[in-house]
Amino acid sequence: MTYSQQSEIIGETCVICDKQKEKGIHLYSSFICTDCEKDMVQTDTSDRKYQYFVEQLKKAAASKIYS
Ligand SMILES: [Zn+2]
Repeated sequence: MTYSQQSEIIGETCVICDKQKEKGIHLYSSFICTDCEKDMVQTDTSDRKYQYFVEQLKKAAASKIYS
């Protein structure tokens, strides 16, 4: 076990999985990693899981208001 990775964090925090990811997209000023993005596009909009994605995005958007 090594903890040296902690000082090497690059990328941004995904609003869906809350993990630091290097690759992803920006949606409504929020960052979504490629994994979650793929997951999202494969999820039907009527699926409860999709609602979870939307809620996470809303939360992220609400907490990212710059004045
Ligand atoms: Zn993610």
